[in-house]
Amino acid sequence: MHFSFILDKNKLLITAANSYKKSHPQKQFGIYVPARPTTNYQAGLHSEISAIKTFLSRFRNTDFSGLTLFNVRIGKDGLVQMAAPCKNCQKVLDSFNFKAILHT
Ligand SMILES: [Zn+2]
Repeated sequence: MHFSFILDKNKLLITAANSYKKSHPQKQFGIYVPARPTTNYQAGLHSEISAIKTFLSRFRNTDFSGLTLFNVRIGKDGLVQMAAPCKNCQKVLDSFNFKAILHT
């Protein structure tokens, strides 16, 4: 499972998880380009996008410059795994100007 948290210093504002039942909101965040070209790839909702989407609708604030985004991935074995944002999410994250982006 892949999670994203948005933090204001040590205050947790948003928690979000990847969802493959929901699709990538391309009207709001641009077209999802898969890492490897496939014929009928349907991008799920990545936790980073979900976190930003929830933040924007909950706080009606677009200033992310004091906020930290923190990605965490927990494998099926319960162990922490690498959770760097994918290329698409990184592009979106760059455009929101977070103070820091951290990941396991
Ligand atoms: Zn992603």
